[in-house]
Amino acid sequence: MHVVVVGSGVFGAWTAHHLLARGATVTLVDAYGAAHPRSSSGDETRIVRCGYGPDAIYSELARRSRDEWRALSDRAARPDPLWHPTGVLWMAAGADAYTAATRATLSQLNMPPEVLSPPEMGRRFPYLDTDGIEVTLLERDCGVVAARRAVRALVVDLEQRGVRLLTARIVTPAGVERALRTDGSMEVAGDGFVFACGAWLPGLFPELLHGRIRPTRQVVTYFGTPAGDLRFTGARMPAWIDFPSGIYGTPDIDGRGVKVGIDEHGGPIDPDADDRLPDRAAVERARAWLARRVPALAGAPVVETRVCAYENSSTGDFLIDRHPARDNVWIVGGGSGHGFKHGPAVGELTARMVLDGEMPDARFALAGKTSDERRRVY
Ligand SMILES: Cc1cc2nc3c(=O)[nH]c(=O)nc-3n(C[C@H](O)[C@H](O)[C@H](O)COP(=O)(O)OP(=O)(O)OC[C@H]3O[C@@H](n4cnc5c(N)ncnc54)[C@H](O)[C@@H]3O)c2cc1C
Repeated sequence: MHVVVVGSGVFGAWTAHHLLARGATVTLVDAYGAAHPRSSSGDETRIVRCGYGPDAIYSELARRSRDEWRALSDRAARPDPLWHPTGVLWMAAGADAYTAATRATLSQLNMPPEVLSPPEMGRRFPYLDTDGIEVTLLERDCGVVAARRAVRALVVDLEQRGVRLLTARIVTPAGVERALRTDGSMEVAGDGFVFACGAWLPGLFPELLHGRIRPTRQVVTYFGTPAGDLRFTGARMPAWIDFPSGIYGTPDIDGRGVKVGIDEHGGPIDPDADDRLPDRAAVERARAWLARRVPALAGAPVVETRVCAYENSSTGDFLIDRHPARDNVWIVGGGSGHGFKHGPAVGELTARMVLDGEMPDARFALAGKTSDERRRVY
């Protein structure tokens, strides 16, 4: 079977990988190339955690994916790793139910997090101010993927293993039979077509997805660390999630600086046309969080910013389903700000859906995607 995968972000690239591993012929098309700066997969770093509150389904997908990220890092990028085993620190002020559920679920799945008291957290990470933090979980086996580099490395690897790469924008998804058309009027033939198009999905399938996948502007800010100071590198500092504040971040990976992101949904974004200039208020909020929690970086300069798109489903659940009117078209997306880590497992589920007709869990079905916001997965 020849499958055309449209989109070489994390979902499309890992889908191509699993289709190829199962013996399919694969063409991978992207309008701008793999992990470009307008794509959601094109930032420097992404956190890989297994904690998902009560949602064991995501914890298990994350565990499977983590092993594949490690394997990719081993085979593709020595001595410059793609996988950084930094650990992931959950910080909660007071009795946060999501953090408590995370602890219970991970323990049931036999991957219990370490529970640190505030004094212990202060001893382990002396540069962190623990004031107001009451519960801390540490997922020691989790970490950070060098996201943009990892997706590009995977796509280079795919090409070497026989995947045909094409840089072109697909314009005719809806009436697909045996070929797609590009905006240069080229035909891209195949037996089946997977659309893993991130924030572009509602534009490609307006009747199906308008309002059901909502792209939003999300600002991340990178802060420079003091010269010669290694405390904030991935070898010494964990990735973290300050759940009640809605702030997360990664240590200094590849010398890019300490990253601080805001998880709250921003305004709408046009993924093709909008400038990626950050809102000042978002940068100042990131700076204030850093000054409070990492006082040694209170005066740290902003060395880089990114505006990236979340592609939110109503609940935060992914979309992995067959097109309701076309037997040979499948849609994969709705990463909703937490999808990157799951790329390998999502690719595997998609390959099984395409090649074996095996439908993934009902949580990923189009039927559950509505236009109201009821976010429950983070
Ligand atoms: C600021 C931010 C922080 C995040 N942090 C984390 C995190 O720490 N951990 C985590 O797990 N997840 C995180 N995420 C979520 C994660 O990055 C996304 O869920 C994931 O990257 C989505 O990948 P994708 O392949 O669906 O989309 P994309 O990476 O956007 O890829 C879609 C691709 O489709 C292509 N395309 C679209 N339309 C067409 C067309 N018509 N023709 C050809 N090509 C087309 C695009 O060019 C693009 O390359 C974060 C997201 C953001 C924005």
